[in-house]
Amino acid sequence: MKALVIERPFQARIRQVEYPSPQAGEVTIKVERTGICGTDLHIYEGTYISTYPLIPGHEFSGTIHEVGPGVTDYSVGDRVSSDPNIYCGHCECCQTHRSNQCMNFAATGVTRNGAMAEFVRVPAKTLVKLPDTMSFQQGAFIEPMACVVYAMNRVQIQTGNRVMLFGAGAMGQQLLQAISISGASELNVVDVSSSKLRMAEQYGATRGILSSELDEQLTDEQKRRGFDVVVDATGIPSVIQRAFQYMGPASKYLQFGVADANATIQLKPFEVFKNDWTILGSMAVHYTFIPSLRWLSEGRIRVDHLVSKVISLEQCVDFFEQEKNKDHLKIQIQL
Ligand SMILES: [Zn+2]
Ligand SMILES: [Zn+2]
Repeated sequence: MKALVIERPFQARIRQVEYPSPQAGEVTIKVERTGICGTDLHIYEGTYISTYPLIPGHEFSGTIHEVGPGVTDYSVGDRVSSDPNIYCGHCECCQTHRSNQCMNFAATGVTRNGAMAEFVRVPAKTLVKLPDTMSFQQGAFIEPMACVVYAMNRVQIQTGNRVMLFGAGAMGQQLLQAISISGASELNVVDVSSSKLRMAEQYGATRGILSSELDEQLTDEQKRRGFDVVVDATGIPSVIQRAFQYMGPASKYLQFGVADANATIQLKPFEVFKNDWTILGSMAVHYTFIPSLRWLSEGRIRVDHLVSKVISLEQCVDFFEQEKNKDHLKIQIQL
C-alpha cells in the first residue's frame, strides 16, 4: 500500500509499505480522511516522542477493511474513527484513572504507524462507529474535538464565567464553541488574524480582539478585575507570558496549546499564592471520544467551516516541507 513515511526528522516521502494485517483484537481500516495537526509537524521536525521511520496521522476516519481474530463488535464496512491513544491498562497511572499519563503510552500515528496511508491497523477497543449522518470529514474531527472535551472537563467553566481565550486557530475555534455553549458570559478571543476573529465571533465569541489592540480594547474595569478563566490555545511562550496579565482573583488558567518542550515563561509564585490561582494542563484525550462524537453528531460543535484545504497524500509531503507556516485552519488529506 501507499503511505507517507517520515524516515527521520525533516525527511518525508511517499513509498510502498507492507499492508498492515490486523492482529488479534485489531481491525484494519481503509482510511478516508486524515487531519494534519501541529503534533504532526512536531513529529516531522523530530521534537516529539516518536521513533522513526513512522507513518504519522492520528486524526482520521475510514471504513473497516478487515477484522482480526477475536473482534466481535465490528464488521467489514463499518464507518469508524479511532482514539489514537492506546493505554496499557496495568501501570500505576492506568490503575488510578490517569490513563492519558500511561507509563507505557502508545499512540497510532505517534509511536506506531498512523493514518497517512491507505490502510491503518488499530485495536478494536479504540473504535467508535460514525452515525450515518456524519461525514468522513467530520469523523476526522472526533480526535481534536476529544482534546477539547478533555480540556473542558479539566477547566470546569462555571455558569457566567468571564473568559479570555488566546488563539483562534483550528483548535481554538473548536474550544471557543465548547466554552460558549458551556455557560461562559463574556468570551473574548484574541488572535493576530482578523478573519479568524470574525469566524470566532460568528461561532460564539462575544468579542474578537486583535492581539496588537488588546490593551486599548479592554476597559479599565476589565484590566483591573481580570478574567475568571484564561486559556492559551497558541502554545507560543510570549503569548502565554502575556496571558497571565489577564488573570483575576481566584482565576483559572488552562494551558491548552502545545508549547515547544523547552519553552519557559516567568511567573511570580507570590501572585499564584495571593490570588488563589489554579493552573491547569490538558494532555490530549482521556476517554473523551464518545462525548466528542455526540457533540459533533448533534451539530452543537460545527467543524466543516474549519477545513481550509483538502489535499492528496502526495501534496502532504510539500505541506510538511513548505506550507506549514501559512495561515491555515484545518488541512485534511483525502486518501
Ligand atoms: Zn492532533
Ligand atoms: Zn498504563
